[in-house]
Amino acid sequence: MDYYAILDVSKNASQEEIKKAFRKKAHQCHPDKPGGDEKKFKEINEAYQVLSNSQKKAQYDQYGSTFEQAQSNGGSYGFGGFQDFSGAFRNSGRGGIEFNFEDLDLRDIFVFFFGGTKKQTTKKTQGNDIEIEMSLQFEEAIFGVKKQIEINKFSVCSHCHGNAIEPGTKIITCSTCHGKGQIQRIQSTIFGQFRTVDVCPDCQGEGKKAEKKCTECNGQGRVRKIEKIEVEIPAGIDQGQTLKLSHQGDIGIKGGRSGDLYVTVRILPHSKFKRKGNDILSKATITFSQAVLGDKIEVETLEGKVRLKIPAGTLSGKIFRLTDKGIPYLQHRGRGDQLVEVIIFIPQKLTKEQKKLLEELKKQEM
Ligand SMILES: [Zn+2]
Ligand SMILES: [Zn+2]
Repeated sequence: MDYYAILDVSKNASQEEIKKAFRKKAHQCHPDKPGGDEKKFKEINEAYQVLSNSQKKAQYDQYGSTFEQAQSNGGSYGFGGFQDFSGAFRNSGRGGIEFNFEDLDLRDIFVFFFGGTKKQTTKKTQGNDIEIEMSLQFEEAIFGVKKQIEINKFSVCSHCHGNAIEPGTKIITCSTCHGKGQIQRIQSTIFGQFRTVDVCPDCQGEGKKAEKKCTECNGQGRVRKIEKIEVEIPAGIDQGQTLKLSHQGDIGIKGGRSGDLYVTVRILPHSKFKRKGNDILSKATITFSQAVLGDKIEVETLEGKVRLKIPAGTLSGKIFRLTDKGIPYLQHRGRGDQLVEVIIFIPQKLTKEQKKLLEELKKQEM
């Protein structure tokens, strides 16, 4: 929409001319009048809201038709509802107009009407979250471990301690807002005059500013550093799980809140053990005679060797359960088991004596 064309004024029109043009146009097509045009009236109102506001006008001049988009993407206005104001008109069905409050943030509309002050926070932007991956040995994931890692992140500037001011610099009152931190503007509309309040762009609402920015961080209050962070890996963490370390991400600008650090674990494979949920899978080899006659064998676990009883007549592939030799549960007490699959070893080479004995067995049909 061309706001200048709607009000029929030139780009160089003064505020007085804009106001005059608006009054005339609004009068002509007011929906309450015979021959009134609600749609046109809305457009006129919208055009006036923008062109009568020097900040919005400048932005409109710069962005043109993408003005609304630019604004909804975080324009610097204190009052989000203002722009939507004209769009909030609805035909009441009685030839008049009314507000559709559902379209607006109520707080904004009340601020708009009553000249209240929306809470303005000073410009302390929050720091970003950081996401990293960490490789763990199989055992480290199972029993837990404390690891020191090095992270390149934004940390507080040690020169200015985060306040972004060069040490020894005087703090002066902001001349733009005279220390108020806000700038007021009187807005004239067909409904009367309204007061709007915006954060002072020079001091970001603080009312004062430093004569000189910190030279070390260029007024950011933070610098990039390699930081050592201790990460405590809980026993039982599984592949791909993520730990959140609150406030260990980038610190915000000028001491703003820190983001979080997310650590996702990658568990390296083990040569002897596999993991299945909270159980550990392993294999043990026994001889033919051990399988047939039964025996006690030694089985490797993550905590050393244990004895396992092989009953007589054990079949190859049978699985034995070693209770509580598995992986601790993250959520509750206790741990899984170790499941040992026994494989009967078939020798590929035999001594003469062995061969003779086996020939004897064969005669016995075994
Ligand atoms: Zn600094
Ligand atoms: Zn200021």
